Amino acid sequence: MGTLLLENIDTLATFNEQRHVLKNAWIFIKDSQIEAVGTGKYRGEEADRRMNLDGYVVLPGLVNLHHHFYQALLKNIPSLQDVSLFRWLHDMHYLMREFRDEDLEIASRISISELLLSGCTTTVNHSYLRVNDMRHDTEIRVAQEMGIRFHLARGSHSKEKGDDSTLPDFLADDVDEVLADTERLIKTYHQADYGGMVRIANAPSTLFGVSDRLWIESIELARKYGISSHTHMAEAPDEERFVLERYGKRSVERAEELGWVGPDVWYAHATMLDEREKAIIQRTGTGICNCPNSNMYTAAKVCEVAPMLKAGGFKIGIGVDGSAANNSSHLLRETRNALLMQRAFFGADAMSPSQALEIAILGGAQVLQRQDIGVIAPGKAADIIGVDFEKLSFAGGIHDPVAGLVLCEVDRVDLSIVNGRICVENGELIGVDTLSLVRRANQHARNLMHRTEKNSNVSISAPVWRRAYPYDEMKD
Ligand SMILES: [Zn+2]
Repeated sequence: MGTLLLENIDTLATFNEQRHVLKNAWIFIKDSQIEAVGTGKYRGEEADRRMNLDGYVVLPGLVNLHHHFYQALLKNIPSLQDVSLFRWLHDMHYLMREFRDEDLEIASRISISELLLSGCTTTVNHSYLRVNDMRHDTEIRVAQEMGIRFHLARGSHSKEKGDDSTLPDFLADDVDEVLADTERLIKTYHQADYGGMVRIANAPSTLFGVSDRLWIESIELARKYGISSHTHMAEAPDEERFVLERYGKRSVERAEELGWVGPDVWYAHATMLDEREKAIIQRTGTGICNCPNSNMYTAAKVCEVAPMLKAGGFKIGIGVDGSAANNSSHLLRETRNALLMQRAFFGADAMSPSQALEIAILGGAQVLQRQDIGVIAPGKAADIIGVDFEKLSFAGGIHDPVAGLVLCEVDRVDLSIVNGRICVENGELIGVDTLSLVRRANQHARNLMHRTEKNSNVSISAPVWRRAYPYDEMKD
């Protein structure tokens, strides 16, 4: 990879311990790591390549803690537009059973493209759908090709004999197979070393679709190999009711009973927590991923990020969640929405732009237990993003470029470097023919819908127009 100098950086937010924000700065990158950072004219070793970032605001890449890549082909499905979680899952199941590996491949490309362009340099994929010929190896291959730092959260579902849960049979995995395949993925791909580009996590899906044996044995396996564990938790009222009725406990109490708490565990959503559950999370150092867009879209409750951060002792990051519940994988916008949602519920000072960015960057790195990312400093991985401030969306708003990333509308980042490799330059993905990618994805989405409606004999793709005003009122 050689050496790369980023120079004349207008504003460099380092996210280091002192939170230094440097003006007229430079970063010298050697291979995959940052070697030196400074201000003024660079006078060090000659670089193989120099990049002039005059007018740019530069910061560490954002971390996405929760996603389901396959759902890139499930954006904007008419029958999923206005329904609560269990109903949404019901219609999703028709589509899920028709997925093939080639759909996963194209959906992974779309998700990673959107993530890279929106400032994400490290992403999790909670990957629980394994039907027909789908393979986890496919998304790892795509992530490696496209250059994003990747945590594959190996997902799963299971049923016990006589299980009356709502989980359809086609989603139920064989527990022994899940454990064996997780072990295979760890042995084949997991890079525990500093700067590792691929890591594996253990990730049964949810309390309403996983047997006790899978919860307990999978986390034993994860701890044997020193990998993290991840799952959905306390996401929505439907789920909370189910867990209470079945186990007589609240979700996090149930998770603790199964051993699913600790610094090596993080939950997506956590919108339904009561004070006892929050205390368990705080005491055990369990991480939380806030997914505001998904929570708003599926009418879940609000994750109490601001009150928890104020109380202290909580590790919280941000995730876009799958595109069936978000319809987008835009991580900077997710960060903006996290801020806005906290303010709507907890007041004007609930979350500032720098706090929102800290959650998306430092919080994400902390939840994933990574010391190598999230800070621009010598010795850290070269995961760096830059936004050219000289554009319409920032015009007139030049006084605080860092806050502008969250408060103004950032369509896309102009620069993204992951592990020293340039993935986005001048606002374009490097090595990706975006138009042909979009056309391929649309063809796959059409074919998937066609197979679904035919094989399940349902109609879920016809747009539904709902009037905001009764017709007669509009005539006057
Ligand atoms: Zn999810």
